[in-house]
Amino acid sequence: MANTMTTEQQKTLVENGVGIRPGKRGRDYQQISLYRDVNPLDWEDWRWQMRNRITKMDQISQVVNLTPSEEEGIRNAKGRMAMAITPYWATLIDPDDPHCPIRRQCIPLADEFHVSPHEMADPCGEDSDSPAPHLVHRYPDRVLLLSTEACAMYCRHCTRRRIVGQEEHADPGAGRWDKAIEYIQSNKKIRDVLISGGDPLILEEEVLGGLLKRLRAIPHVEFVRLGTRVPVTLPQRITESLIATLKKYGPLWMSIHFNHPKEITRRTRNACEMLADAGIPLGSQTVLLKGINDRPHIMRKLVHELLKIRVRPYYIYQCDPVRGTQHFRTPVSTGINIIEKLRGHTSGYAVPTYVIDAPGGGGKIPVGPNYILSEAKGKYVLRNFSGTVYTYLE
Ligand SMILES: *Cc1c(COP(=O)(O)O)cnc(C)c1O
Ligand code: SF4
Repeated sequence: MANTMTTEQQKTLVENGVGIRPGKRGRDYQQISLYRDVNPLDWEDWRWQMRNRITKMDQISQVVNLTPSEEEGIRNAKGRMAMAITPYWATLIDPDDPHCPIRRQCIPLADEFHVSPHEMADPCGEDSDSPAPHLVHRYPDRVLLLSTEACAMYCRHCTRRRIVGQEEHADPGAGRWDKAIEYIQSNKKIRDVLISGGDPLILEEEVLGGLLKRLRAIPHVEFVRLGTRVPVTLPQRITESLIATLKKYGPLWMSIHFNHPKEITRRTRNACEMLADAGIPLGSQTVLLKGINDRPHIMRKLVHELLKIRVRPYYIYQCDPVRGTQHFRTPVSTGINIIEKLRGHTSGYAVPTYVIDAPGGGGKIPVGPNYILSEAKGKYVLRNFSGTVYTYLE
């Protein structure tokens, strides 16, 4: 039922900053036959978006003109990391361009089922650093809590594809985190908890609030942050009531997975503004992806657009050698060159740290351009961003 809203309802939507269409970067959803008759109130409802995710060939084929490789990829994805695309994200896809960066991140290709010899199911060795279910403890003072196995959209390059998108539980069950929380309680060195997944923001507010409350009650936990992609793939989820829940258990920090400037629509900007206005510092995490964001000018555009919506670029990750992602991986030099083209050439706040998560569980290792040309007896020979050489005496 299209346009069944009263003017009063429409006014309220606009006042709440919702009902905002993606803008010039996306298609108006009513132009897509699959969504022509969707009520704008439904469209803005995150649960409607979740319920109506695209998971089947006959749905996606109404939104894009599939290539043979995509058709094969979708058929093969059954029973593995499933395809799931929010209707909102679908409006950002270019229906005619198989290289569209939005499209390549969500529609499996036949390439995904070619496993290269050095690829692994768990490239960062998370399972072997797990002292309790759903918990990874690798660094001395902080832990990673894998809060759920579900996400709004499944990214084809996902590092955790061994666990995400296999089976979806809307309610992860009350006791699910007990062991992890006990472990955090009994380890006074843990001052920082990163809640990731899957995506914690697809949890119901009572469930997420309950988890935050339990963590906040631990005196030595000083710092809690959420790792999420929801502001990008399901911005409708950032509601006033979610914000109220997050504020209740603040201070909280948030890392948001952004890969391409096209992801920064008016809708996503609105979601980030709500979060930033609530006092949640926002950082970005980006995976370096071949043909998607591996050119310096694309990455520069991304980091500049992020600063405009108050998101501080935090990390660029080398794409981990997870099974079936060879077609996404670039040489390491590509990432180093991107940092070379940013550092000094633009605002320092716009420059993230490029890291490789060491295969086998070594953690994140920063890699970047080398500015020290030589160092001996307190004499440093340095170069600056434009290549001029300087000597610094200690
Ligand atoms: C990334 C990560 C963290 C957090 O690392 P920061 O550099 O502090 O952001 C913590 N634990 C694990 C296992 C991680 O992979
Ligand atoms: S949102 Fe994160 S965890 Fe979920 S599929 Fe994408 S990369 Fe994986």
